[in-house]
Formats: sequence, structure tokens, C-alpha cells
Amino acid sequence: MNIARAKEILKRQFGYDSFRMNQEQAIETILEKKDCIVLMPTGGGKSLCYQIPALMLDGLTVVVSPLIALMKDQVDALKNNGVEAAFLNSTQTNREQVKVFQAVRSGKLKLLYVAPERLLQSGEQFIEFLKSVNLSLFAIDEAHCISSWGHDFRPEYMQLAKLKIHFPNIPLIALTATADKLVRKDIIERLNVRNAALFVSSFNRPNIFYTVEPKRNSFARLLDYLESRRDESGIVYCLSRNSADSLAADLRDEGFNALPYHAGLEKETRDKHQELFLKDETKIIVATIAFGMGIDKSNVRFVVHMDLPKNIESYYQETGRAGRDGLQSDALLFFSWGDVNKLKGFAEVDGNKTQSEIMLNKLNTMGKFGDLKTCRRKFLLHYFSEDLTEDCGNCDNCNTTFERFDGTIIAQKALSAVYRTGQRFGLSYLIDFLRGSQAKTIRDEHKNLKTYGIGADISKNNWFDYFKDLIAQEYLAQTEGQYPTIVLTEKSEDVLKKNVPVNLIKVTIKEDKKKSLVSKVSHPYIKELFDDLKRVRTTFAKSENVPPYVVFSDATLVEFATYLPQNEAELRKISGVGELKFQKYGADFLQEIKNYCEIHKLQSRINLKSPKHERKSRTKRDEHGQDTYSISLDMFNSGLSIEEIAETRGMTKSTIEMHLIRFIQSGEVSLEDLVLYRKIEPIKNAITRLNAGFAVAPVKEFLGEDYSYAEIRAVMAAM
Ligand code: ADP
Ligand code: ZN
Repeated sequence: MNIARAKEILKRQFGYDSFRMNQEQAIETILEKKDCIVLMPTGGGKSLCYQIPALMLDGLTVVVSPLIALMKDQVDALKNNGVEAAFLNSTQTNREQVKVFQAVRSGKLKLLYVAPERLLQSGEQFIEFLKSVNLSLFAIDEAHCISSWGHDFRPEYMQLAKLKIHFPNIPLIALTATADKLVRKDIIERLNVRNAALFVSSFNRPNIFYTVEPKRNSFARLLDYLESRRDESGIVYCLSRNSADSLAADLRDEGFNALPYHAGLEKETRDKHQELFLKDETKIIVATIAFGMGIDKSNVRFVVHMDLPKNIESYYQETGRAGRDGLQSDALLFFSWGDVNKLKGFAEVDGNKTQSEIMLNKLNTMGKFGDLKTCRRKFLLHYFSEDLTEDCGNCDNCNTTFERFDGTIIAQKALSAVYRTGQRFGLSYLIDFLRGSQAKTIRDEHKNLKTYGIGADISKNNWFDYFKDLIAQEYLAQTEGQYPTIVLTEKSEDVLKKNVPVNLIKVTIKEDKKKSLVSKVSHPYIKELFDDLKRVRTTFAKSENVPPYVVFSDATLVEFATYLPQNEAELRKISGVGELKFQKYGADFLQEIKNYCEIHKLQSRINLKSPKHERKSRTKRDEHGQDTYSISLDMFNSGLSIEEIAETRGMTKSTIEMHLIRFIQSGEVSLEDLVLYRKIEPIKNAITRLNAGFAVAPVKEFLGEDYSYAEIRAVMAAM
């Protein structure tokens, strides 16, 4: 019953048809007045987990958030959905604060956002104040900030332990996008919510393609990269404010529309740059990590890291800002071990040895990710305690083969270059030396050595790879410090004197695979109309002085420009069109769409919209008569992966697999589409041996972990 009402509010107030991930369970738990902890990836939809209960419960919901800069936007967005909300923080004048207090007392407010320090300011005065009002819920956003095991520990969060002591009967929800097991434990203990229900959603972002490239000539490489993405929006992250400024300027010199964003800029400039980016008037933001917290720009197509992030948590959060609309997007990291060394200084936490060790550990794991030769997604998800049973096929390593070859001669050349020059030089120098560079930096006495120029037949990039490989195999070592040099190791002698063979890795990209991935990206919406609609949105945003996404998100505009609604009823079916927004903006957007369709002789395509909200219904047919199995089949045929279909349709992966299995017998889906080729034979053998017929369980038991129920069913269907 409660959930039916929650769904009503979801549609009426926020304009969405169905819950995502664990939203429904979290809301149910709160409505039962129980505590819960919600882990969801960035962009997953954490806010609705407390906003909907806030609207359903009697009284005020207090939201604790460390992101002061965002509070105003969050509150504006809520107000624009017809929700009474306000915030309290240090940016307000006394008078503004007094007004908020009055609003709280009047009982009109449903949500109040406060900074953690504000909550516990001037002794317990504020707590006492809260005791005098009717409270419904506490929501702790960015809850990982409470843990010193986390990457973003904030001491003021420790004080939140008091909430459960003062308000034992008010339910509490803690939300975060990153929390490994230790951090989870801390959250539970430090917030005093030992009986809290824990909801962990999958952190997989299947539409993001992860790439790591060695960090050298990275500016030139970046130019190439951006050149092939001229019309797309992206974020380029740098470590320092200075480099963000200068990189943005350099990009502008090269004709790219790029602006910097960091905490050192005037607030006015910062806001302006952010706004231009949100409005797509600036395509590229060059930023320090200050940028992006809570940015709801759904069409960020790429995120580049010029410098190494300090830990996997930050990397995942930052790359997670790409592709919130579910379309294929890219994450590129320029990696060097030099960056790991450089960041070691930052990892030290003054006077706190344990904390420093935690940070150094996290930094090293980040380094390992940079050097990884196996599936990146597997590594990332494993880090967040989630295991992928198969390689993802959507990262650089899954699209690369690493072939070993006899590199003994190459190794001998490299090692003797190190030996002859006295083990006092860095990688770049050694490579220039081996290649016989004429650069002035090469010392004259080195030019007379026999080894000088001995490796001219090998490209610079390949030399870098070979050296890295030799270091990884410990035939060479790299010293620590600001100017690391390459030195020999105990194993070097084997190569130089004993002629022990050395295997090196040759890297090749599987070109065909990359192409097929690119062609999978489809933009079914009408770009021209989308741009027209954005202009309508800008007009509203300007006159109301809010960011454009507060009017409608990009995802909503994309739906407009895909399904071309022609009347009010059709407009209401679009995701993101809640009641208030429908009243405020509906007519204008509808007019724009209708005009466009008239000129271009187009008709409504609303019947193509997948019936997300049909998710739990028992009928297998949607309102247009298409059965749920065929919808999955159509989507599959249009090139979407099973994961993507599951995500779009709000169903589980195994449900979609079951849908598709039905089409094996008719031949519309081939067995190889659903089951890896190498697995087919073993499954067939098992079925025959066990004489299993259609009994899946014994076969599964026989084959074990590596084989899924769906795979077995698929083979059975084919047999
Ligand atoms: P998070 O805080 O987890 O990063 P948000 O709460 O900001 O994510 O939500 C991200 C975006 O997804 C927002 O635009 C939000 O309105 C949208 N969203 C949330 N829940 C749903 C849903 N059930 N259906 C469609 N869109 C949703
Ligand atoms: Zn992969």
C-alpha cells in the first residue's frame, strides 16, 4: 500500500515511472521507521530514497550534507518539483537564517538541508531546537565522510553519533557512493545504527569504456583525443589549480572551447563556467576535483584524468560523471608511476600514522590499476567488493592482446645502456641514448659509447613499454624520489652475462572489437529538436535563475526529442515530467515539439517508449500489445547488451536472459549470442551425461560456479 503511494509521488512529483535499484526497498524500510544504509553509484538516485519518505511522513526531514555549495541547487530543484525545502549554512545572512527557522517552526517545510557543523553548533542549541519540532527522518548524505578508513574523512561527521542518542525513535538513512567493507562497518558503528538494513546496489557502469595510457606527450595525445570528440561534452581533471588554468588556456589556443574550474577562482567566475558547461555552451571543463560533486549533467561523454587520482574511490566517482544517460562514454587516464611518487607527499596525514598508511595503501592500489593488464572493470568492481565472473569486453585491456615474445636482445640492449651510463639516468634519457638522439641533453662522453644508438630501430613508445616490462619483471628497478633513475638488479646479471632468455610483452589492439563497440552507440533522438528544446529550457532557466537541469534534465529532453509527444497525455508519459513541471513548462515544450514535427512531417513515436512502469505487473503485454519478450528481443537486435536492456527496462539480467532464451528455438536468437562458445560443449556434455532433460539444477550443481542457470537453460533450449 505504502509503496503504491510512493510510486504515485514518484510520478506526480518527480515525473518518473519506476524505481531504480534499491530505491523501493530503502523507502519501504524508512516508512517502517527503521534505519538503513544505502550504497549506490554516483547518479544512481540516492536523493529520492529520502525525499520520497520525507513527503510521505508527517514532519520534517533533516538532511545532513557536507556539500554546502550544492545545497542551494538541491533546494531549488526540489522547489521546482513542488516540494517545500530550505537549507541552513554559513553562506546565509542572519536574516535569511531566521526566516528558515520560522519556516521550520511553522511546520510547512518538508526538507531541511544542513551542514554537519551547523547541526552541532553552539553546544546543543540546535539539537534542542530540533527536539521542539516534529521530526520525521534524518538523512546523512556522503556518509563515508564519517570513517577514517574512507578517502574523505571529515571529523565533524563524528559528532553525528549523537543523533541516535538524542533521537532514538527517528529513523535514519545514511547514503554514500563509496564504502568498502571497513567503511560500512564504521558508518554503522559511528552512527549508532547497529540494526540498520543495508542496501548495496551494483556499482557497475557498463556504458563507460575505461582506458589507461602511459603519461607522456599527454598534451599532444589529449589534442588528438579531443579532436575526435569535437561535438561532445567532457571533463578534464588536473591535480593543481595552476595546471587547470594553463591547460584550459592551451586548449583554447588550439581552438577548443574549454574553461577552467577550481576553488581558486572567484565564485562568480566558477559559477559562470559551470553554468556554461551545463548549458553546453562550453564543451570542455578543465577542473580540479572541486568540480563535479553532484553535477547532474547527463550527457558528459568523456572524463580525462591528466594526473593520477589519489585513490580508486575518487577515480571511480570522477569517471562516474560520464554517461549518466546510459549512452556509451569514455574514461581516459594518463598514468605514470612518477605520479604515484609525487602523490605520496599528499597522502601523508600530519601526525596520524595509521591514517597515512591507509592513504598510501589506497594510492598504491591506484598505481596497480594504472599498470593493470587484465580487465579494468573486474578490478574496479572487485575493489568495491563486487565480483564480475567474466571480463567486461568494454575496457582497453579486454580489447588488447598481450603477446609474449623472445625479447632477450632488446633486454640486453636496455640493460647495457643502464650499465654503461652508470645507473644514474632516468627513463627518457636512456631511451634517447639508445635511439641515438642528437639532442644536446645527451652527454658527449656517452655519444662515444658502443651502446649509443644501438636501439634506433625501436620507437620511443615501444621502448617505454619494454622498460616498464623489464622493471615489472625485476630485470631493472626504478629508484624512488623526484628524479627516479633506472638501476640494475640482482637479476640483471643473468641477462648481461649468462644470456638467460627474457620474454617481453607485445601489445596489439583488437581493432575489429573496438569498431564494433563504437557502432553500438546509437543516438536515436533528433539532435536538431533537442537543441531547440534546450533553447526553450534556457529561457525558463534564465527567468527563474536556476541551472537548466532544474527545469528538465538532458535525459528528459532526449526523451522529448525521441518520442515526439503530441499532446498532454503523451507528454506526461515522458520520464521527468512531474505534475508541477507539467503545469509550468508543459505547454511551451509541447508547442516547440509540435512545430518541429509539423515542419518535418513527423508523428508521435510515444508507442516506442519502453513500458518501464510495467515492471511488476503480471500481464505480459504492454498497452500497445507488444509482449514483454519481444520488447527485449527488439532491444537486443538493436545492439543493446543484456545489461543495458536490463537497466533500461528496470529488470534483472537473468529476466532478460530468460526472455531471449525463448527465441532460441525459433532461431531469432542464436545460442552463441547468449553463451560463450567455449562453454557450450561442456554444458551439452553435462546435460547428456546426467540425462537431465529440462532439469537445470543437477546440471548447475555438476558444472559449478562458472556456469549460470541462464546459460544452461539456453543450451537446453537449443538442444
Ligand atoms: P546520486 O545522489 O545517487 O548521485 P541523484 O539522486 O542526484 O543521484 O540522481 C541522479 C539523477 O537520476 C537525477 O537526475 C534524478 O532525478 C534521477 N533519478 C533518480 N531516481 C530516478 C528514477 N527512479 N527514475 C528516473 N530517474 C531517476
Ligand atoms: Zn574489461
